[in-house]
Amino acid sequence: RLGGTLVLSVPDVDLLHHAGPELPAPTYQVPRTGDVWLGRKELRPSGTKVFLGPTTIGDGSVAVIAGPCAVESSEQTMATAAVVAEHGAVGLRGGVFKPRTSPHSFQGVQWDGLDLLAEARERTGLPVVTEVVDPEHVKRLAAVVDGLQIGARNMQNFALLTAVGQSGLPVVLKRGFGCTVEETLAAAEYLLLEGNDQVVLCERGIRTFEPSARFTLDLTAVALWKQRTHLPVMVDPSHSGGKPELVEPLSLAAVAAGADALIIDVHVAPEQALCDGKQALRPQQFADLMIRLAPLAAGLGRHMSGA
Ligand code: PEP
Ligand code: MN
Repeated sequence: RLGGTLVLSVPDVDLLHHAGPELPAPTYQVPRTGDVWLGRKELRPSGTKVFLGPTTIGDGSVAVIAGPCAVESSEQTMATAAVVAEHGAVGLRGGVFKPRTSPHSFQGVQWDGLDLLAEARERTGLPVVTEVVDPEHVKRLAAVVDGLQIGARNMQNFALLTAVGQSGLPVVLKRGFGCTVEETLAAAEYLLLEGNDQVVLCERGIRTFEPSARFTLDLTAVALWKQRTHLPVMVDPSHSGGKPELVEPLSLAAVAAGADALIIDVHVAPEQALCDGKQALRPQQFADLMIRLAPLAAGLGRHMSGA
């Protein structure tokens, strides 16, 4: 050991026995923090509470965050915010920067959407969560919103994780759809190492061989995270199922599996949505879902957040 660093010397083995140039043996430096997992359950067995504005995630209640996939216009944002608030959501989601698979798809209204989220919060009292896609955007977004989302496609964007960790703001960290349970915990460590413990892990479906749904919701991850980390766990049944008719069964199953929170796409006119309209719940479907969730929560000795 040299100072705080463990130095491993790797022997120089010439496997092919050819006479190459003489190179010094490589030396890898392994930082000692490698064995201190800040997210591990034992560090805080009672669990971490995440304070998203007036909403607490991880206090035993079931918190539902809902709203459009993307902020599109003032009318759409205000109308959707009013609907989700009326039916018991305790947070508003809405992407202003959209990380789209195709560059030809709608990329979000970008900075113009920030004032709309602030106005929707003003009108409904709901804290707002939006996705951040660029470390350079963190400060400007954090000055307005209550929570930042790191999308599945960015779960291992380490510069972004570090910048969001430094913001100190609550973070919804979505699992990459090709990433493991442990890789997600490792990504969360980047946030925790910056001194930010306001982290919610979000299972949003992974890629499997099954083509019948957009992704396959991995409830095993929910159970494992609840056992392995003190961080609260959220489930996104909208992006995983990709169909409105899957949102209710996946939501109920997620809560039964121990999820602390749900994040749900709702749109006042899904057929006109510029992003992910195929999976959005209509206002009445969202109202029905909230009615179905309450007795399940009660049966589990829990209650709906805000109720
Ligand atoms: C989203 O929530 O709008 C989103 C893009 O989700 P994901 O990163 O899980 O695909
Ligand atoms: Mn979406």
